Amino acid sequence: MVSEDELRRRWEKTVERLFREGIIKSEAVRRAFLKYPRYLFVQRRYWDYAHVDEPLPIPAGQTISAPHMVAIMLELAELKPGMKVLEVGTGSGWNASLIAELVKTDVYTIERIPELVEFARRNLERAGVESVHVIPGDGTKGFPPKAPYDRIIVTAGAPKVPEPLVEQLKPGGKLIIPVGSYHLWQDLLEVVKLPDGSIKTKNHGGVAFVPLIGEHGWRG
Ligand code: SAM
Repeated sequence: MVSEDELRRRWEKTVERLFREGIIKSEAVRRAFLKYPRYLFVQRRYWDYAHVDEPLPIPAGQTISAPHMVAIMLELAELKPGMKVLEVGTGSGWNASLIAELVKTDVYTIERIPELVEFARRNLERAGVESVHVIPGDGTKGFPPKAPYDRIIVTAGAPKVPEPLVEQLKPGGKLIIPVGSYHLWQDLLEVVKLPDGSIKTKNHGGVAFVPLIGEHGWRG
């Protein structure tokens, strides 16, 4: 079994490569990645692979996304301290931890699979993250108690943009969401809610996510 020092060293190399290649663009995202290495959010049998730039399995047949994908979404979200953020699809809790490091305040994240709610909570505790609140439930309905949000980041692929998520954005707020087919592929959309309530959508190209299952997503 490799030491944690070695896992960190490998992770630092991955982060520096993503930075050199321009996928991580900002110092803030670079620092957040360095603070929360991906190995802290996968099962021990995958520690050896946590620095590899590919998705990895997490319990319940789900995945933790590839580091480059997480970096692309975080850079698109342009997170700033103080922003109120909702994540849909907690999975391992890794992306939520990175978001929390960027906004320096409470983050709300919804997960539909109870086993993953527990998995994420354990990972967050081990990583020492206190400001991420994992909420069990269907994230396609958003999380009205804390709405409206500056940013909503969806980490599963939807058939269409769920209406409740647009409703729960602040004017000027932004939704980052993969939209497309059930398995392969989706388009990564950046949906901005303009001050008059209308939306402007920009397509950032092809991605592959597990399906977003719920009332305003795919039917399970
Ligand atoms: N963001 C995660 C991380 O950092 O590990 C990776 C997310 S994984 C690619 C997608 C997650 O979305 C899965 O855990 C899946 O159970 C969850 N999911 C799918 N549909 C959902 C829904 N309607 N509400 C909440 N979570 C959902």
